[in-house]
Amino acid sequence: MGITKRLLGFHGIGFALFVLFAVFSYISLSSYQAINNKSIELAHKIELVGDLQSLIHKTLMPPNDYLITGDIEERRNFAKLITETAALLEKMKAVANKADDEKTQAQEIEKGFIELQQKALVLLSTNNPTSNRKSSALMKEMDAFGSDLAIKIEKLHNLIWSEMDKHNKKTDAISRRLFGIFMAIVVIVLFGSFFVGFMFKRKIALPLLELTSSANLISQGNLEHRVNVQNDDEIGLLGTQFNTMAQSLKEKIDEVKEYSASLEKANRRLDQNILQLYALYNISKNLSATFEMEKLLNQVVESVSQALKLHRLSVMLVDAQSKELKIVAGADKAQEARFRLGEGVYGIIAVIGIAEMLNDLSAHPSFIPTEGLDDDISSLICAPFKGRGQVIGLLNAYRVGGETFDEASYELLIATASQVGIALENAMLFEETKILAITDGLTSLFNRRYFTERLNEEFERACRYKRELSLVMMDIDYFKKYNDTNGHPEGDKLLKDFSMIAKKIFRSSDIVSRYGGEEFVVILPETGKEMAFTIAERLRKEIESTEFAGGKTQPDGRVTISLGVTSVYEGLKSADDLVKNADNLLYRAKEKGRNRTCA
Ligand code: GH3
Ligand code: MG
Ligand code: MG
Repeated sequence: MGITKRLLGFHGIGFALFVLFAVFSYISLSSYQAINNKSIELAHKIELVGDLQSLIHKTLMPPNDYLITGDIEERRNFAKLITETAALLEKMKAVANKADDEKTQAQEIEKGFIELQQKALVLLSTNNPTSNRKSSALMKEMDAFGSDLAIKIEKLHNLIWSEMDKHNKKTDAISRRLFGIFMAIVVIVLFGSFFVGFMFKRKIALPLLELTSSANLISQGNLEHRVNVQNDDEIGLLGTQFNTMAQSLKEKIDEVKEYSASLEKANRRLDQNILQLYALYNISKNLSATFEMEKLLNQVVESVSQALKLHRLSVMLVDAQSKELKIVAGADKAQEARFRLGEGVYGIIAVIGIAEMLNDLSAHPSFIPTEGLDDDISSLICAPFKGRGQVIGLLNAYRVGGETFDEASYELLIATASQVGIALENAMLFEETKILAITDGLTSLFNRRYFTERLNEEFERACRYKRELSLVMMDIDYFKKYNDTNGHPEGDKLLKDFSMIAKKIFRSSDIVSRYGGEEFVVILPETGKEMAFTIAERLRKEIESTEFAGGKTQPDGRVTISLGVTSVYEGLKSADDLVKNADNLLYRAKEKGRNRTCA
């Protein structure tokens, strides 16, 4: 039921009560009016009866006076009174109750009055009534009649009084009844008002109050609260809508909460990514500034372990010759381990060239643990890196104790691996360039610049620590002739072959250099003159006995060399002097006939 209908109902009840009251008032008013009319009528009757009594009495007076005085004026008086009385009687008859004794009584009175009137007329028509016996007798008769009439009028009077009495009693009864009805109506109106008030409170005021307090609660953030309105009207509908609104608000807030949680998560991930990116940036910066391979590899291990909070990190390099992977940094306990390309996790990844994240090692059939490297781990990321387009190594990150890697770590390691590849390539290039800078292009021996640098260093060291140091200078005999006879390219080849032999004869600690043209010089640290001489001789003999192509056309029938051997001694001023000494000795060897060593 709608509020309008309900309000109309309340109005209906009010209206019905009003109508009831109005009808009651109307009935009461008309009842009282009827009572009033009746009272007026009865009073009128009483008045008429009173008038009649006095008139009847008066009517007897003219005949009486006429009897005494004989004045004919009394006839006129009588006639006047008669007319008045007749008119009064007519009125009396008109108001008298037809069905009651009143009517009969009034008729009786009229009849008696007519008789009285006739007797009076007889008396009044008598001339000289005084002392007329007949008239006196008539008069007496008339008095008796008058008394009789008076009794009759009294009777009528009593009748009217009794009617009045009845009327009063009836009026009392009606008043009491009306009062009863009035009280009943008052009670009904009271109950009706109470009922309307109660229903209004129950169906409108209380539900509205519930709505208000619910709205308050919900606005304070209590979204679990629901409006408890059972109405089947607009308020009920409002309550339902309100609950739906609260529900959808709650759902929306839950959604927002969920969204903000995921946003927070994303933020955290972003923060982590930024940190990792920063780490990568630092790694790249450090790597790009490092050209020494060993330093670089150690830096990779340190900075990547730190950035990813790793338990361990290893760097492996591909050895193209043995087709194996070797650990070059990290996992010191497993330095000797080797992994064949194409076999096991490392070997396969090195061949395929795609990084892998293994958070569940048991699910990987190719994983075979290696002591000191990955026998204690729970997860692994293996990222290959390339140099000159080829996989040249692997960057392996390890975690232990059930810890796993996430996607971000995986991405970071791949990015780092690529940086490591570039850095290693640069380092290799640097190494190559460095070697090239100190190497003689034709013979692959050290060049003169490196020789001079090293000689100064070794000379300083020998002088300071009083250590032995020797220098061997050598020159191919008749090389110009060899060139002229065999051609310049053959001359080059001889230079190369000689260099190979010289490298073999001298020790790895000796610095064998090309001094210029077909002249060579060797620094022998920690070596005395005798020892240096012995080695020099060994080389000379080796050359002498080697069959070089075109050697036969040489003046001695073979390729030979001359050598000058010198060592540091007390008082020697500079490394230059040492070279000069060696040069002089070499010159002496040439002078003495070549193919010899002068010390
Ligand atoms: P000696 O026994 O006195 O040392 O005589 P020689 O002919 O060896 O000495 P000389 O200094 O007169 O000749 C050196 C020659 O070496 C001259 C030059 O043509 C040759 N030569 C210098 N450098 C090279 C080189 O790089 N390649 C070739 N093929 N020959 C070179
Ligand atoms: Mg020479
Ligand atoms: Mg020469």
